[in-house]
Amino acid sequence: MPLKLKDLAKICESTESIIAWLINLNLLLNLKDCICKFCEIGRFGFRKDSSFSRDNYVWRCSNKKCHKKVSVRKGSWFENHNLTLEQILHITYFWVYRCNQEFVCHELGVCERTIVDWYNYAREVCDNILQTNENNVIGGPGIVVEIDESKFGKRKYHKGRRVDGVWVFGGIERDSKKCFFTTVENRTADTLVNIIKQHIKPGSTINSDCWKAYNSLDKEGFTHLTVNHSVNFVDPNSGAHTNTIESTWRALKKSLPSNGTQKTLYDSYFSQYCIRKLYLNDSTDPFTRFLEIITKVYNPESIKSDFITITPAITTKEPTKKPRVALVDLPQNPNNSLDDFQI
Ligand SMILES: [Zn+2]
Repeated sequence: MPLKLKDLAKICESTESIIAWLINLNLLLNLKDCICKFCEIGRFGFRKDSSFSRDNYVWRCSNKKCHKKVSVRKGSWFENHNLTLEQILHITYFWVYRCNQEFVCHELGVCERTIVDWYNYAREVCDNILQTNENNVIGGPGIVVEIDESKFGKRKYHKGRRVDGVWVFGGIERDSKKCFFTTVENRTADTLVNIIKQHIKPGSTINSDCWKAYNSLDKEGFTHLTVNHSVNFVDPNSGAHTNTIESTWRALKKSLPSNGTQKTLYDSYFSQYCIRKLYLNDSTDPFTRFLEIITKVYNPESIKSDFITITPAITTKEPTKKPRVALVDLPQNPNNSLDDFQI
């Protein structure tokens, strides 16, 4: 069952329950019972403290002489932002479900600029995933990839000056619908063939129109089939067509903000489109899926060793002095297993 707004509201009933839920999903740092790296004596516990954020909780070393504090948001999607965890989670939820920014402002009482920023951060996550992901390279021997260029942004007159749109080049695997899109300065052979070599595996069967920039693809290790759009939409001899990418252009243009966007943001909207298509659109729980994706980019686990002494296993030896009872009683967790943080 997909997580719904009412479920999210329940999770957000208290800061403690949000934190426990987020730790369980690896979205917040978990230092519970870990040995402090700064004194190598104390262990981190969860304490009420307003040093770092509005959450009012920190991880604090139990050693009185050390008392090192670490923000629960350290290394996470939530780090260094003024909004509450609840607000950030809701904005993320609304982004996943494509809610319009005006509506989100109204619902959360947060200014529109903040929503714009967070929607940008969400697209940055998509961008990051694609950059570090082999999904950014498509095709392969025997796989059909359709390529094409399309002009984005309406030609319009702005303060007496004609502003042209921007050329976008893209490719899509006909069967899996894995795809890539990128803005290009021009449509010369140099530019396009370079991008093709970056994004499409050798041996792919490339279908395109008869644009002259593609003439060398046969020599670059691709099987290249063309369709002459001034004559027909499917080549009668080879069966080549570019119908898949043609319909993808329509969907991609529809996914952009209706009031237009800055040229510099186009690529991030393309990443958003690709990530939604690859992971979210068909997911049974798109919100939780996106939270999982966030941890690939913002992973608090990866910075844990900055604060704790990593030991093969935590010993059962009692600390010399019993640490003060945590104000919030997170479950005892000798193995630091995140699974224990169920609410
Ligand atoms: Zn310490």
